[in-house]
Amino acid sequence: IEPDPQAGAAVKAADRAHVFHSWSAQGLIDPLAVAGAEGSYFWDYDGKRYLDFTSGLVYTNIGYQHPKVVAAIQEQAGKLTTFAPAFAIDVRSEAARLIAERTPGDLDKIFFTNGGAEAVENAVRMARLHTGRTKVLSAYRSYHGATSTAINLTGDPRRWASDNGSAGVVRFWAPFLYRSPFYATTEAEESARALQHLEDTIAFEGPATIAAIILETVPGTAGIMTPPPGYLAGVREICDKYGIVFVLDEVMAGFGRTGKWFAAEHFDVVPDLMTFAKGVNSGYVPLGGVAINAEIAATFDKRPYPGGLTYSGHPLACAAAVATIQVMEDEKVVENAAHIGETVLGPGLRELAERHPSVGEVRGMGVFWALDLVKNRETREPLVPYNAAGEANAPMAAFGAAAKANGLWPFVNMNRTHAVPACNVSEAEAKEGLAALDAALAVADEHTA
Ligand code: PLP
Repeated sequence: IEPDPQAGAAVKAADRAHVFHSWSAQGLIDPLAVAGAEGSYFWDYDGKRYLDFTSGLVYTNIGYQHPKVVAAIQEQAGKLTTFAPAFAIDVRSEAARLIAERTPGDLDKIFFTNGGAEAVENAVRMARLHTGRTKVLSAYRSYHGATSTAINLTGDPRRWASDNGSAGVVRFWAPFLYRSPFYATTEAEESARALQHLEDTIAFEGPATIAAIILETVPGTAGIMTPPPGYLAGVREICDKYGIVFVLDEVMAGFGRTGKWFAAEHFDVVPDLMTFAKGVNSGYVPLGGVAINAEIAATFDKRPYPGGLTYSGHPLACAAAVATIQVMEDEKVVENAAHIGETVLGPGLRELAERHPSVGEVRGMGVFWALDLVKNRETREPLVPYNAAGEANAPMAAFGAAAKANGLWPFVNMNRTHAVPACNVSEAEAKEGLAALDAALAVADEHTA
């Protein structure tokens, strides 16, 4: 890594002059200028290297710059860079086949989008047209994207500013035993009460008005809350009982993150529609989509589907997906994610929890882990209040700064840090991340009481 602070300063200056960043007060941000990235690492123009425990935005499931995927994109660019979605294109057909072969059950048709939010928009559109109903039920503690319907479905503060209620969205509480909305003390209680609450919500909303229930199979940004045994199967039953379309959002949890191709496999459930993006091609070229079951696909056999995108199934994105899936097979990337979770990250994070009073709970699987940081383990009071900013968020800011000082780029959301490295992270890299977290948690511990 050749340091070049002058080049970094120029990149930064042009960014500050002209790039309008997501989710930010433009005058208050100071984005790091990144000079390059490879595998699990990236580096800045001063030559400082970071182990990326965020996988970008939890999407570089095979790490940065995988040579085989880079080569596949280059090859496709030389052959056919782009072509309109109405045509049959070899690489698009192949990507759809490879995805459909891996999605559970009869989710065998793929509608391609450019990312996760558009996948959610289209899944909801399909559900509404299929059922002839309007309402969609989604969970608090969720994220489904930033476009109109997707942000209205989202159950976190990012929704508030765009919450116009026009999407016919009704929110409910999904299970989360550590901070149980149902005063439950066991997973079985949490699951049963969450299902009862969902069914009560449906009864009072009117079952015949509800087109879909959407859930992240394992909620991601909201805190990696693995659903208790029986919950998702119970939701499946409720959907069947009332003719409601069951949508699982696997934009973050899919493509290896949980140690299976899709998180739904852990719970033996098959949704009617499944959204994906991110890991499908590690985000090397924007791609997302909806996997559609036979029944809903049949709705649009004779009747046109009234939705589309100029770049649906873009050849460069599809080439990246084909190569990524091939790499994941050849290099046993999904198996590696499961193995790292079972043997390094899971045990390592639990060991950190034993020594650090700021860790209230460790939860997750594969390369999908959350540390719920608390002021006090007995009361479980979060280390910072919900949606804290400025001074109120100082303990989490201090934790994040300490991680970075130790060469770890951490995922930080509210009172949590997530350990979400690439699915092909090595044992040594995962251990390096644990050591940096160890040092950063010592800083968080200073804010416990
Ligand atoms: N759904 C889930 C579960 C996500 O985590 C995200 C993004 O983080 C989205 C949807 C939105 O995806 P995108 O940002 O590609 O629109």
